[in-house]
Amino acid sequence: MGIKIDGKELANRIKLRLKNEVDIIKNNSGKCPKVASILVGNDGGSIFYQNSQQKVATSLGIGFDKVNLDETIEQKDLENIIINLNNDNNIHGIMLLLPLPKQIDSKKVTSLINPDKDIDCLTDISVGRFYKGEESFIPCTPKSVLTILKELNVTLEGKNAVVIGRSDIVGKPVANLLTKGNATVTLCHSRTQNLKTITSKADILVVAIGKPNFITADFVKEGSVVIDVGTSSLNGKITGDVDTESVLEKVSLVTPVPGGVGALTTTLLLSNVVEASKKYVY
Ligand code: NAP
Repeated sequence: MGIKIDGKELANRIKLRLKNEVDIIKNNSGKCPKVASILVGNDGGSIFYQNSQQKVATSLGIGFDKVNLDETIEQKDLENIIINLNNDNNIHGIMLLLPLPKQIDSKKVTSLINPDKDIDCLTDISVGRFYKGEESFIPCTPKSVLTILKELNVTLEGKNAVVIGRSDIVGKPVANLLTKGNATVTLCHSRTQNLKTITSKADILVVAIGKPNFITADFVKEGSVVIDVGTSSLNGKITGDVDTESVLEKVSLVTPVPGGVGALTTTLLLSNVVEASKKYVY
């Protein structure tokens, strides 16, 4: 019988270390790591995410500037806000909540964020650095997958890792990070043939497809580690891509949904703020 990974417990562990790091930065430099979180309009999901960012940031002693803007803001005004935040040495990380309203050219606005403050890895420069293995921030959801594996001492080197889903925000960056960790990676998608044959050889299986309970026991290898990124709504409940109860009989570790990958993302976003601040405070 496998173990369900407790994402909240892992997040708490990381928060303790992060709080300690923030205290050291404050003591040594007299300055405080600080993030600006930009929200345009009233999207319910974005408001919820911004509030939870603020709550966690405050609990860690990280400064948090809420930049809440009217839905009708014009392109030039939003661009100027980003440029001013880039030039503000007291702001170390910039988080732009997406989606932006229709009148805004999202790609142009995003590309203006200084890559050194781009804690969510949105700009083309950050993405280029990330894939070339240069110094860059790791986007939060992929970072959460890799952090869970690291915190649980799961060895990557030489392992067969299978990622299902090839999106730019999850599947591809997860595959890149697993490759960097010296796993042998197979990236699957909706046109993959014989998916079950591939997944049943995976020592590590990461699933990010948005199909509730798609992965059942017959897809997984005995003793494997399964990370479920999926979050779909099924009968009013947030449900992952993995049928957790079914795979538990075979795997060694599996992340639940909710309470798995998603439980770490805000903390990891803030860990990127702390990293970013080191360039500015010392
Ligand atoms: P996406 O852009 O819709 O991509 C889905 C991927 O899954 C595509 O590559 C697609 O293949 C593949 N796929 C779909 N059906 C498949 C099937 N039957 N067999 C194999 N592959 C299949 O999704 P995403 O943005 O990566 O998100 C994936 C899931 O993760 C969603 O449930 C999302 O809500 C969740 N998510 C969670 C977090 C978090 O913090 N927990 C963050 C981001 C996303 P093709 O490329 O061939 O179409």
